[in-house]
Amino acid sequence: MQLRNLGNSGLKVSAVGLGCNNLGGRVDRDGVQRLIPAAIDLGITLFDTADSYPVGKPGLSEELLGDALGARRKDVVVATKFANVMGPGEMMRGGSRRWIVAAVEGSLRRLKTDWIDLYQMHFPDPATPIEETLRALDDLVRHGKVRYLGCSNFAGWQIATARAVSRELGINAFVSDQDEYSLLVREVEREIVPAAAANGMGFLPYFPLASGFLTGKYKRNSPMPQGARITVAKIFQDNYLTDENWAIVERLEDFCQTRGHTLLELAFSWLLSRPAVASVIAGATKPEQLHANVAAADWTLTAEELAAVDRISPLPKTKKIH
Ligand code: NAP
Repeated sequence: MQLRNLGNSGLKVSAVGLGCNNLGGRVDRDGVQRLIPAAIDLGITLFDTADSYPVGKPGLSEELLGDALGARRKDVVVATKFANVMGPGEMMRGGSRRWIVAAVEGSLRRLKTDWIDLYQMHFPDPATPIEETLRALDDLVRHGKVRYLGCSNFAGWQIATARAVSRELGINAFVSDQDEYSLLVREVEREIVPAAAANGMGFLPYFPLASGFLTGKYKRNSPMPQGARITVAKIFQDNYLTDENWAIVERLEDFCQTRGHTLLELAFSWLLSRPAVASVIAGATKPEQLHANVAAADWTLTAEELAAVDRISPLPKTKKIH
C-alpha cells in the first residue's frame, strides 16, 4: 500500500482509506469486527468517521470503530469530525468553543482512544467566527487530544480565509479538506481543490465511488444488485442514476475494457492522479470489497488516458459573463 503525506503536513495516510459512515448502519457490529481487521491487514491506515455517523444513530460508527481497532489503534490514523447536529436545539453542533470542547470528549470516549489523528470540521458554521473555532481547535492540539486539523464542505474562499487566519494568529491550521469528488462529480476542481492545493492542504474525496455506481455493479435496464446501497435508497437513485450519468458510466466502462482495466480501477486510480488528493476514503460493507478496492489503486494513467477521461466526463462549463 502506498502511503502519502496529507498535504504539506507530516501525516502519512494510505492511498486507499476506509470511509466509516456504514459502520453501525449498513454494517452491523459483527460485520465491523470483520471489516476493520481486514482493512488493516490490507495496509489501509486511514479510517474516516464522524461523531454524527451513521445517519440516525450518531456516535455508533465511532463506538464500533474504537471497539474493532482495539490494540491496533496505535497502528492507524483515526480521522473523525465535529460540527454536524448531535442533539436537539442549537447547542450540540457547529464550531463554537463550547461545543468543540464537549464534542472532542465525546469522540475520544466513543473511540476509546486518548488522541484523534485528524479532527475535521464537518461543515462550516456561519454563526461562529472562524477565529474562535480555530483557536479552540489549536488548544486541542496543544493539549494533546488532537494531532492534525482538517475541514470539510468548505467553499474555496472559506479554505483560504481559514488558512490566512491561522497564519495571522500563528496557530495550527487545517491541513486537509474533504468534499464530494468522483468521475461523476467534478465541481470541486473549479475552486475547492485549487484552494486546498494553493494552501498546501491534502484533499480527501468523499463519495468517490458515487455510492457504488462507479464499481460497475449497476447496469442500465437490469435488476439492481440485491441489498446494495443505491438499490435500497431512492435518494441515491435520484442523485446518481440519471440518463446523463448512465451514458458517462457506460462510455467509461468501454474505455476501461479496451485497456484491460475495470471501472473500479479507474474510479480509484483517476482520483489518486488528481492534484492534492492524498487518500480515497471509499466506504465498504464487506472484506471482499476492501480487497477489490485496494487492488484498484495501481493503474498509472497516461496523459492520453487522462485526456480521454476528460472528454467522456468533462468538468461542466461555467457560464460566460460578457
Ligand atoms: P462511496 O465510497 O462512494 O461508496 C461506498 C459504497 O460503495 C459502499 O457502501 C458499498 O456499497 C459500495 N462499494 C464499495 N466498494 C465496493 C466494491 N469493491 N464492489 C462493490 N461495491 C462496493 O460512498 P461513502 O462511503 O458514503 O463515502 C466515502 C466516505 O466519505 C464515507 O464513508 C465517509 O467517511 C465520507 N463522507 C464524508 C462526507 C462529508 O460531508 N465530509 C459526506 C459523505 C461521506 P454497498 O452497500 O452496495 O455494498
